[in-house]
Amino acid sequence: MKQDRLLFLDPVFKEMIWGGERLKKDFGYDIPGTRTGECWAISAHEHGDCKVSSGLYKDKTLSELWNTKRELFGDYPGVKFPLLVKIIDANDDLSIQVHPDDTYARFHENGSFGKTECWYILDCKDDGDIVIGHNAKDRQELSDMIREKRWNELIRTIPIKKGDFLQIEPGTVHAIKGGTMILETQQNSDITYRVYDYDRLSDGRPRELHVEKSIDVITAPHIDHSAFVQLETDSGNMETLISCPYYTVVKIHVEGRYEGSMAQPFMNVSVLEGEGTLDGTMIRKGMHFIMTNGDGSYNIEGTITLLCSYPGIQHNETRAGID
Ligand code: ZN
Repeated sequence: MKQDRLLFLDPVFKEMIWGGERLKKDFGYDIPGTRTGECWAISAHEHGDCKVSSGLYKDKTLSELWNTKRELFGDYPGVKFPLLVKIIDANDDLSIQVHPDDTYARFHENGSFGKTECWYILDCKDDGDIVIGHNAKDRQELSDMIREKRWNELIRTIPIKKGDFLQIEPGTVHAIKGGTMILETQQNSDITYRVYDYDRLSDGRPRELHVEKSIDVITAPHIDHSAFVQLETDSGNMETLISCPYYTVVKIHVEGRYEGSMAQPFMNVSVLEGEGTLDGTMIRKGMHFIMTNGDGSYNIEGTITLLCSYPGIQHNETRAGID
């Protein structure tokens, strides 16, 4: 294996009103405070650009490598690194929100990307649930329910358990509830429209809501995309969780030894559980790295669970994404 094929990254942490301390307790990170809500683990976004933690490219940011060393990423096109991988610790409920698609974001958000995202449930309460979708029969009823603040009627929740996987298409109302930890893989964007924030105050004031834009972009009636998610086990060790135009997400679980092959230009890897080695390099729970373009084959040894992602066919080479 080529030297420095693995780009280990230092996460960027975000304090949030709904955050907690589990990123330290469960993952051992050196978090900045008692309300740490997000760990931007693999990110080249300007609001949190990860630095390489060791090796030849130590202290370089991911965006800098994307701009100057595109060969590491298999010459994948695009003005920006396409994906963003986060761990979210929701100690309290998150606001109920929705994301625009690329077309809406381009016209209404200054050329930004839209946001498709997906969630792997790392942990949740025993009787955990999550907000996905709504109960309005059409856009008029959606608009009425939002303007009349009929939240209990509007909001749709579904039960979840550890290990579940959910795809969140643009236009889908969604929210994580307190006690849930997830690993999120998403388009590299942070355009979010807040529909409802449980009437909470942040620094004495309610956080801004985006009622009109939300009504514009929410799909009505709700479409249950979970019906379209095809789970397939590619081998005894590897399971494809989703393959959409923006990304493919796979879970790799090894007990013993596994020889994998990578046909993709590069792969984002997060270690969810356990420890082991990858081509002789020590990897353990909480580490995040990018397997850069190489000869394709790799060896994993140990008892370890990885969540990996690589970019899809949809890229954004033709316009500058600004957000
Ligand atoms: Zn979201």
